[in-house]
Amino acid sequence: MSPIWRSLEVTVTDESEKTMPFVLHAVPCLADNYAYLIHDPASGRTAVVDVPDAAPVQQALTAQGWTLHDILITHHHNDHIDGVQDLRAATGAAVWGARKDSHRLPPLDHALAEGDTVTIGKEQGRVLDVSGHTIGHIAFHFPDSRLAFTADSLMALGCGRLFEGTPEQMWSSLTKLMALPDDTVICSGHDYIKGNASFALSVDGDNPDLQARIAQCKMDAEDGKPMAVVPLALERQTNPFLRAADPRMKAKVGLPGASDAEVFAHLRALKDKF
Ligand code: ZN
Ligand code: FE
Repeated sequence: MSPIWRSLEVTVTDESEKTMPFVLHAVPCLADNYAYLIHDPASGRTAVVDVPDAAPVQQALTAQGWTLHDILITHHHNDHIDGVQDLRAATGAAVWGARKDSHRLPPLDHALAEGDTVTIGKEQGRVLDVSGHTIGHIAFHFPDSRLAFTADSLMALGCGRLFEGTPEQMWSSLTKLMALPDDTVICSGHDYIKGNASFALSVDGDNPDLQARIAQCKMDAEDGKPMAVVPLALERQTNPFLRAADPRMKAKVGLPGASDAEVFAHLRALKDKF
């Protein structure tokens, strides 16, 4: 598969249509991964979240005329870190990642745990432990820009597979992410939208919000919008995994009296076999 040497600028606006402090670029990498560039125009600071492959990220930096200062890592899987060492060597950027995962990440300049902060220009990002897909997976939430980088925890219409954690751990991680402010924009690690949409329809096909979203997705895909970037409010209404606490979803999957985590575990198991 040939790489797509193109980064996609994503404009995040609020109700008053003011552009947010960070400029966000989604950089397609490998088959369906994204790296994200965040640039603070006031200070000139630029960071990248995950580096599946160094070349497309460098290409995007050059195209924008940005100098990279920081590399933020969400988790240890190769498709999120394989380009880190090359990019560090080329730019001298500082590498931030989870202390819990330091034995299986490239060498860290800053080891992080839940509640720590990452400063990019004048903005502070908060670190959330979102274990489940892996143990030690972290997310970065930048409240001023209203961006949350969730990689393989919360994904567009889906969530990551449970390679290391339990359903209870993933449910607790998703619950943390669901509690972020309504206007948060989720930037996830992959475009799995087609498979995720098919699964969502199979368990929640009569949800009008889901139907409307999938129709919109088809138009957005034609416009070349990055499918891995989605408003949290829309995820809450349409992502079947986030709806595990909804009595209507519990009834649909035949578990009306079950706990939220049990319904989540059931949905995740269904998706694994889908
Ligand atoms: Zn992963
Ligand atoms: Fe991944």
